[in-house]
Amino acid sequence: MSTANEHPATSSVLHAAQIEEAMSETIVEARRRVGQAAHQVETAAMDAMESARACASEAKDRAQVAIDGTVIRTRGLWRRAVLAVVNWFDTAHQPAVDPAALDRIAWLRILPFIGLHVACIGVFFTGVSWFAFLVAVLLYVIRMFAITGFYHRYFSHKSFKTSRPMQFLFGLIGASSVQRGPLWWAAHHRHHHRHSDQPGDLHSPVQHSFWRSHMGWFLTPRAFPTDAAAIPDLVKFPELRFLDRFDIFVPVALATGLFVLGGLLEEHVPGLGTSGPQLLFWGFFVSTVVLFHATVTINSLAHVWGKRRYNTRDQSRNNFWLALLTFGEGWHNNHHHFPGAARQGFFWWEIDLTWYALKILSFVGLIWDLKPVPDRIRRGQRVRG
Ligand SMILES: [Zn+2]
Ligand SMILES: [Zn+2]
Repeated sequence: MSTANEHPATSSVLHAAQIEEAMSETIVEARRRVGQAAHQVETAAMDAMESARACASEAKDRAQVAIDGTVIRTRGLWRRAVLAVVNWFDTAHQPAVDPAALDRIAWLRILPFIGLHVACIGVFFTGVSWFAFLVAVLLYVIRMFAITGFYHRYFSHKSFKTSRPMQFLFGLIGASSVQRGPLWWAAHHRHHHRHSDQPGDLHSPVQHSFWRSHMGWFLTPRAFPTDAAAIPDLVKFPELRFLDRFDIFVPVALATGLFVLGGLLEEHVPGLGTSGPQLLFWGFFVSTVVLFHATVTINSLAHVWGKRRYNTRDQSRNNFWLALLTFGEGWHNNHHHFPGAARQGFFWWEIDLTWYALKILSFVGLIWDLKPVPDRIRRGQRVRG
């Protein structure tokens, strides 16, 4: 601070020095602050970069996990798809199935079954002749008998005896019905009798819906395998195991044979008015689809529609119309009452075409030891009222 006796110039110098000092301090302070701010900015930038790097690395890891998961799932899907197609031709290698999917319809696996139904439309393009219609009826009759007389009463219930060639012959005819092989059919049917209309029964209309009991049940992975433990008396025959394993080949052979026969007849016996495609669509596709649905009415309708004579633990019924359609199998309440009998119509008025045919085969000695229905069984355990 200047005093009164100081020279003005001296005072100005002193003032200037103070200003310079203040400015210098200000500059130092400003530099310090700028340095501090720059450091903070640098630190923040470094942190941001570090954080961005960590995020990028995490995103990369997640993307890799997602890609790996997709690859594994795609491989699994492909594997299952390939196995489903392989199973069309060879049923020996059943794929491992997620337990949650055991009762879901396996669409790829059942494409041939869907195709069988869709192919029936072919009759609108081929037209019809009496000959093709008769072949369709004849194949229904022969194959229905093979299913009821052999797949059911012989393979499943052993209600009579026969020779090994006859066993194979009717196993072969039964296999042409597109109802899988004789071992698969018998194993599942024995399971039905053990659990009929109980929770373990795969095709009970009491436990499941009508459509599930009619056809949905065997379109699921739970029903695809053949339970060899249920049929120890049958698995010992390699020829039956072959029919069961390659169950598509007999139907394909029948279809091919009909197509070839139709073509030959068209050329050599044109008066019949048939052709290869016509005989194929009527004789194989239509006949097989009608035969299939008639057979499985015994799983669905014969447990809900008809009368109960015997007080069985299930809801099986006797039904005249189903008995006509299925050559005697409609006397289903009788059958559940005494499954071991070769006849299912227990009285003379209960029409049982399979039983009549079996009697004829026994007269000519092709089958024997037909198990009868004992009188006490016929009379016993009646439903009251
Ligand atoms: Zn039943
Ligand atoms: Zn049975």
